[in-house]
Amino acid sequence: MRPAAYAVLDQAALKHNLKRVRACVPRSKVMAVIKANGYGHGLIRVADALREADAFAVARVDEGIHLREHGIEHRIAVLEGFTCRDELLQHWRFDLEPVIHTPDQLQWLEAGEGRAPLSVWLKLDTGMHRLGVDGVDLLSIHERLCRCRSIRQPVSLMTHLSSAGDLDNPATERQIRLFGQLTAGYEGERSIANSAGILGWRQSHSDWVRPGIMLMGASPFADRQGENHGLLPVMTLHSRLLAVKMLKPGDAVGYDGTWVCTKPTRLGVVAVGYGDGYPRSAKSGTPVLVNGRRVPLVGRVSMDMITVDLSDCPDAQIDDPVVLWGRGLPVEEIARWASTIPYTLLCAITQRVRVFDTGEG
Ligand SMILES: *Cc1c(COP(=O)(O)O)cnc(C)c1O
Repeated sequence: MRPAAYAVLDQAALKHNLKRVRACVPRSKVMAVIKANGYGHGLIRVADALREADAFAVARVDEGIHLREHGIEHRIAVLEGFTCRDELLQHWRFDLEPVIHTPDQLQWLEAGEGRAPLSVWLKLDTGMHRLGVDGVDLLSIHERLCRCRSIRQPVSLMTHLSSAGDLDNPATERQIRLFGQLTAGYEGERSIANSAGILGWRQSHSDWVRPGIMLMGASPFADRQGENHGLLPVMTLHSRLLAVKMLKPGDAVGYDGTWVCTKPTRLGVVAVGYGDGYPRSAKSGTPVLVNGRRVPLVGRVSMDMITVDLSDCPDAQIDDPVVLWGRGLPVEEIARWASTIPYTLLCAITQRVRVFDTGEG
């Protein structure tokens, strides 16, 4: 029997979404970004389903090691790189490709002479102002990297777009142009585009693209959903009804009594809460599927439960199936009701939520 709250992952949807990426960028190679436990879907599970990708990217070195220990032989970029010698040594040991984003990292690379050459990505800051080398430091850092015999030449070049999810924002054009100017004349492959770049900014495609959220079937644009891009949702979050009861006008529901019945109401209690990763910020009115029918969430989300108004679902009874997001209920819609973005919902799934593959169990 399945636990009260569980997620089902659709591996075929992951493969389909990778094909959609390829269709958008026929001339680019695809580095599948599977940081943060594969956006909450399970690092190894996602990597296994995406073996057709040309490379993987993770945020931290231990995520890369985890992939190697499970037999992933692809190129793996580590987007945050290293902050000390030991972390750099792990890149060597597990053949991981660190992102170089500050001159502070060079001392350890230069001290690594004599080792087998390491592939690295040099990250330029073109306006995100988070990680990356600016135009002033670029020349000297690039020269030092070129001289470094512990590094495979030529060095690959990348940058990250700050605002590509907003198709009217001129920052993206500026970033792409600046990246082109700064790297003109340099050898080496280039990478700019995240999902929003892939879907919205053709000029950003270059040699490698770095999709994350679109592989999981969600849109990077606030006013769209995965299906608008031909993507399929990968994660469906399920639960079931724990109790069904009748309330009378004036009864207040849940913590702080924020929702009060105005008429006789059939209330459903669902076994999912913020302890599973369902957002506490989800407002009354957030859609929930009970027996495949949409009903509104009412009252506050608690740790282990939510409450829904079953007035439009008169047959619903204890143990009936509930879907919180995924197939039939886009995660983007839930994100809007919770004043957040789909990324946070997917990443926030907690340990308690068991994960199954479609057709399993
Ligand atoms: C997370 C990340 C990506 C993927 O972004 P999506 O919006 O999920 O496609 C790409 N590049 C870098 C540097 C990232 O940190």
